[in-house]
Amino acid sequence: MGEELSAMKIRYYSTNRNLKGVPGISPYKGFVSFKRALLQGQAPDEGLFMPDRIPVLNPEDILSLRGRPYAEAALLVSWAFLKREISREALEAITADAYDFEVPLESAGGGKYIMRLDRGPTASFKDFAARMMARLMSHLRGRGKRLNVLVATSGDTGSAVGEAFKGVKGIGVRILYPRREVSGIQKKQLDTIGANVQAISIDGKFDDCQNLVKMAFADPDLGCLNLTSANSINFGRILPQIVYYVYAYAQLAGGPGGEIVFSVPSGNFGDALGCEYARRMGLPVRKLIMPTNENMEFPRFLETGRYEKVSPSVACISNAMNVGHPSNLARFFDLYGGTVDRTGTVHKMPDLEEMRRRIFSVMVTDDETRETIREVYRQYKILFEPHGAVGWKGLETWLERRGDFPLCVVLETAHPAKFPEEIVRILGLTPELPPSMQGIEQRTGSPVELPCDYGSFKDYLLEDLR
Ligand SMILES: *Cc1c(COP(=O)(O)O)cnc(C)c1O
Repeated sequence: MGEELSAMKIRYYSTNRNLKGVPGISPYKGFVSFKRALLQGQAPDEGLFMPDRIPVLNPEDILSLRGRPYAEAALLVSWAFLKREISREALEAITADAYDFEVPLESAGGGKYIMRLDRGPTASFKDFAARMMARLMSHLRGRGKRLNVLVATSGDTGSAVGEAFKGVKGIGVRILYPRREVSGIQKKQLDTIGANVQAISIDGKFDDCQNLVKMAFADPDLGCLNLTSANSINFGRILPQIVYYVYAYAQLAGGPGGEIVFSVPSGNFGDALGCEYARRMGLPVRKLIMPTNENMEFPRFLETGRYEKVSPSVACISNAMNVGHPSNLARFFDLYGGTVDRTGTVHKMPDLEEMRRRIFSVMVTDDETRETIREVYRQYKILFEPHGAVGWKGLETWLERRGDFPLCVVLETAHPAKFPEEIVRILGLTPELPPSMQGIEQRTGSPVELPCDYGSFKDYLLEDLR
């Protein structure tokens, strides 16, 4: 039976499969392959794809990653999911090519570590997922027609996806961003990628960009363009985010049986979801800490059992986490036996007690975030940017309530140099650019400028991509 099960392909279902009586949604009851889930992005009923089975890793295999390159951890984890859909050789080449940068684990003493996920080409953790997804798409799409990826971004996602697909054969990328809502350095990162990646500056807001992309996907006139999405709900972006938890544990665990705590600064919950899957794959995670900024719909839910999205979302300095209703909450609910839809309506409560046993969440205000950056730098000479500081503060809060824990890891999700104004204001110093971003001021490239109007966008796509 076990043999038979493991010989079966993992299939993917929709988080909306059990919805009843929601206008405009007819639940998708089917299952798709990883390839379909990857190329299609979202289920036809607007739900999120979920694996119907979570493979369990052998504890010795996990511990054998100690001292090994990150790419080997990526191979171990992704092979467990993909072995029926891709050859071992192909996956080995993909992981080696995607992960050619370091993943530092910095000690703060007392069993506390900072895992810096900021050494990829765009200096945010989003590089980890985007690079793997791009290579998987390129490999699995086969020799068919050229694929055109559309992505709307408020900053970090767009450049990570753009850099990840740069030079990938058979795939073109168009990134839409809101002209007046990205920082100077983000605009530079987006406009200058080049090759098969083109930025489009829209005279509108982030929501407008997202709507233009959605309309394009739904437009039958554009069926000929083979459009696909690369947004944060694609399961192809979740899978690579399981890896760094396994990697960190293997490097730091004292031996078999030791437990670990992770603190993951959270916005759309894709990053933290990777940790939830890692635990279900057998990693001994005692607690998953998911601190949020002032968008505190989730910590409030864990405390009260009532879910209310924050609308409109609060603009905090940890701006990549300004999310009033995390899209991956639907996946968390599903894993704990509940259902929540895209609008934030709860159809079935998850097992709240079990959730509280596994997950701790707390709101961290902007003032606390700044204070944390100041204090941690003073005490340990460790430099955090605002997102990582929210993670550190979340861990401190948990430790205050329960006492010490022998092994804790905080994820630093971006490089401090991406937030120079804030760091200068708090600490009076300018963080040095990481190697991947040095010389960025000299890079050239310009966006296509479009009004916020679907007709113009459609004309542009038809002319440019046909
Ligand atoms: C996207 C992002 C986050 C939030 O990650 P989620 O997966 O959306 O929870 C945190 N920090 C940085 C720097 C990010 O870019």
